[in-house]
Amino acid sequence: MKIILSHDVDHISVWEHRKDMLIPKHIMRSAIEFSLNFITFSEVVKRLNDIIKNKWNNLDELIKYDKANDIPSTFFFGVRNGMLLTYPLSDVNYWATKVFREGLNAGVHGISFDDLTEIRKEYNSFAEITKKNKIGIRMHYLRSNKKTLANLAEAGYQFDSSLPILRAPFKISNLWEFPLHIMDGNILSRNGHWQDQTLEQAKIHTEKIISKGLKLDLKYLTILFHDRYFSDSFITWKKWYMWTIEYLQLNRFEFISFDDAVLELEKVHS
Ligand SMILES: [Zn+2]
Repeated sequence: MKIILSHDVDHISVWEHRKDMLIPKHIMRSAIEFSLNFITFSEVVKRLNDIIKNKWNNLDELIKYDKANDIPSTFFFGVRNGMLLTYPLSDVNYWATKVFREGLNAGVHGISFDDLTEIRKEYNSFAEITKKNKIGIRMHYLRSNKKTLANLAEAGYQFDSSLPILRAPFKISNLWEFPLHIMDGNILSRNGHWQDQTLEQAKIHTEKIISKGLKLDLKYLTILFHDRYFSDSFITWKKWYMWTIEYLQLNRFEFISFDDAVLELEKVHS
């Protein structure tokens, strides 16, 4: 079983959210997590400092960490605004270019999941920025309906990784679907609103999914970690990510990119 790591980039800066309710929501969430003893006072202070310093992405830090650990990860960037993703295309241009320059991979963090014309527009924006013709996608909030995968294939995507089910990759016309197996949010915030798990609980849950994957004889296991949480302001999340990488390395799992996994699958398929 090989491991595919990816990062959804939901926010680049704090100030891009000055017109929505995310900042007060974020402060509320921190207050709840602190009152329930899931985060320390020092994390609360660090989070308030992040707001003052306008620091909500940890892309440089994560690129550096993944490279140092030989992880060919993929960063998914939104090329359209929606569902509290509000950064401009110029940011995608800067960061996706940087990710490729550093030898890692980038794809689209999709907003439209139900309209082929809009799906095509997002594809074209990303293709124009990156000059790539083999593009992958993960939907923001993993949104999909019965037609999403067929529409993504129609738009020209080579892979998607949005379906949260524990099963092997499968093909829909020319598109490979890599179901999503391990997600930071599901591991550390099982209620979907705030952190409600300790690091120890998170480790046990993660080990369980990995061993289920082995039992099912999956050739690839996919893991999502948001760059937003690679920070001492979210110390349990950051420690969970680093522990997961260390655990996988100790158990001699190999890391692979989506692109190389597609090549392997095509070889077997042909
Ligand atoms: Zn997202």
